[in-house]
Amino acid sequence: MAEIRVENLHKSFGDFTAVKGESFTIADGSFFCLLGPSGCGKTTTLRMIAGLELPTSGRILLGGEDVAFKRASERDIAFVFQLFALYPHMNVRRNIGFPLVCQSVPAREIKARVEETARLLRIDHLLDKPVSGLAGGDRQRVALGRAIVRRPLAFLMDEPLGTLDTEFRDLMCAELRHLHERIKATTVYVTHDQLEAMSMADRIAIMNNGRVEQLGSPQEIYDRPATLFVADFVGSPAMNLIPLTGRLGKGAARLEVAGSGIAIPEMREDAPGEELVLGARPEHIRFDDASDYRGEVFGTEYLGTMQIVTVKVAQGRVKVKVPASLRVESGEQVGLAFLSDRLSLFDKSSGRALR
Ligand code: ATP
Repeated sequence: MAEIRVENLHKSFGDFTAVKGESFTIADGSFFCLLGPSGCGKTTTLRMIAGLELPTSGRILLGGEDVAFKRASERDIAFVFQLFALYPHMNVRRNIGFPLVCQSVPAREIKARVEETARLLRIDHLLDKPVSGLAGGDRQRVALGRAIVRRPLAFLMDEPLGTLDTEFRDLMCAELRHLHERIKATTVYVTHDQLEAMSMADRIAIMNNGRVEQLGSPQEIYDRPATLFVADFVGSPAMNLIPLTGRLGKGAARLEVAGSGIAIPEMREDAPGEELVLGARPEHIRFDDASDYRGEVFGTEYLGTMQIVTVKVAQGRVKVKVPASLRVESGEQVGLAFLSDRLSLFDKSSGRALR
């Protein structure tokens, strides 16, 4: 059982507080990502879970036991720094077995565990080959093998793919996810790359400024961002955030975007009256000649089957994702329609989502 629970965790470095009261639970066997911009406290959080940094206060429960103030060596977890670094002078077998040699595991057990790990990664036929001659994908599998051979309670990974080029990174994301599905070891993965997090995680904690802004599945976070920060951080291109005028009443409401009424269903009753921000993903806006919410096409970006069209409207610029086959010219006047059941709405002053 390797559920990890973080309760009201704080970390200060002198006067500066890097982690400001985090609480979350990482289910046993799940793939959990800490995602956020540089400096938000991801690494500090991971290092506290690993035992490489002591919390200022709070609890870290590993399988029910509070380990917050225990040494790293007393926690059965593996901290993976870089997945791609191999020892070039060793063969595959010795590369994978190296962590066990360091732990003085008996030779016969090392042999069995290395072979089992290699079978799991489909590289058992390469065990006695030098790593220098391996193809890229196989090298990455050897590196993964070295990380998992210890079979710890949990894996902690800090931007392990950070320095890889895009092609290898995509390959490794798929490989890591595939491996996780087979071994189901609790994994905590730190990244600032939303695509990595979205493609691998069961659950994501979005961090900002030392706090968790939202915790949820990739889909929940994408579909229902809890704050303006999350709305802006997740999604490429980002969600359109359009300031609104008008008042909200009970039940369904009608809001004014520059004179064009947009119906917002299922409004919460306690929604405040003013200073709202409408959130619309580019794929939830379409061109509609009948709409009186109009703007001028500023430019297009082709993405193969789709294109992103930037439209200048009264409030700034709105990005719209439409099929690439649709012909649009810069300078053209277009009407925009919103898919009202897919919209988000935020209270501007608190930044919290109202729906
Ligand atoms: P990055 O991806 O850039 O590493 P991060 O989200 O992982 O970002 P942290 O490394 O956790 O961020 O750092 C959070 C904040 O705490 C940063 O402002 C950093 O400068 C500060 N910090 C981290 N470690 C220390 C330390 N040992 N002493 C002082 N400040 C620190």
